[in-house]
Amino acid sequence: MATVSIVIPCYNEEDNIIQIKEAICETLSGMALDLEFIFVDDGSKDKTWEVLSHLSLADSRVKGLKLSRNFGHQSAILAGLHHARGDCVISMDCDLQHPPSVLPEFINKFNFLSDYKIAKNAGDFRLLDRRVLDKILQFHETDLFLRGIVNWMGFNVAHVPYNQPPRLHGDTKYRLGKMLGLALNGIVSFTSRPLYIAFVTGGIFIIFSLIYIIFIIARWLMGFKIILGWTSIIVLILLSTGFQLLNLGVIGVYLASLYKETKSRPRFIIWDSVGLNNENKK
Ligand code: UDP
Ligand code: MG
Repeated sequence: MATVSIVIPCYNEEDNIIQIKEAICETLSGMALDLEFIFVDDGSKDKTWEVLSHLSLADSRVKGLKLSRNFGHQSAILAGLHHARGDCVISMDCDLQHPPSVLPEFINKFNFLSDYKIAKNAGDFRLLDRRVLDKILQFHETDLFLRGIVNWMGFNVAHVPYNQPPRLHGDTKYRLGKMLGLALNGIVSFTSRPLYIAFVTGGIFIIFSLIYIIFIIARWLMGFKIILGWTSIIVLILLSTGFQLLNLGVIGVYLASLYKETKSRPRFIIWDSVGLNNENKK
């Protein structure tokens, strides 16, 4: 019987945990599967951990990891992936926005295609085959951008379309700042192009400046007066300062990312756990 691990990151999700577990059990009840739930409490401030501990005592398939603080959605998923022991692992949100009703289709594709993983691009709702998972666990980037890495690895992907309902309980945990952070991380960890753009725009600026200087000298040689307007000077100064700061900023963002990676701190710290057996702790 295949074991399916389900990794669910939870940040202040006390009201959703029981319901998502029940919804998953219900949709998968007809399939002969060994289920393993790995809920990761990402530094919640509500009763998430209490709910998880109780649930784990009542149902041995439920395992809980408590991170020492809020490490963010991607790190929470990663912590769960590291402890999954299934033949495949599904990651999904706790708020039922990733509908459990899609799971049978995920799992059927997995069985049918065996070494295929199923990914849905719109978020972190995906099934990974054990072979793919083991490869992902070998990446040691601090800011691992799971959505990008999965595509980068180049394994076969199958897509399962679904409609996203509104969140069940509570508010979104992705405020604008976190979302922008994730977007920036997605860019910086997957392309160095902005650095080249900075380089190219700098170059273009220099070429235009040179042309302008030659133009002024030529006019001077032809006997024209060369007192040019104050406004044009100010505009040029403002523009070029802006470009310089922008490009410095681009370099800064990459430098910060490089700095973070060289420190190679652990990506999450597990403070407590419930229901884990030795196999999970490998
Ligand atoms: N989440 C998390 N850590 C965070 C933010 C979010 O573990 O710092 C979890 C959250 O509990 C949920 C999932 O990530 O299970 C997606 O978050 P949310 O539903 O708030 O994001 P949205 O659907 O609004 O983009
Ligand atoms: Mg959500």
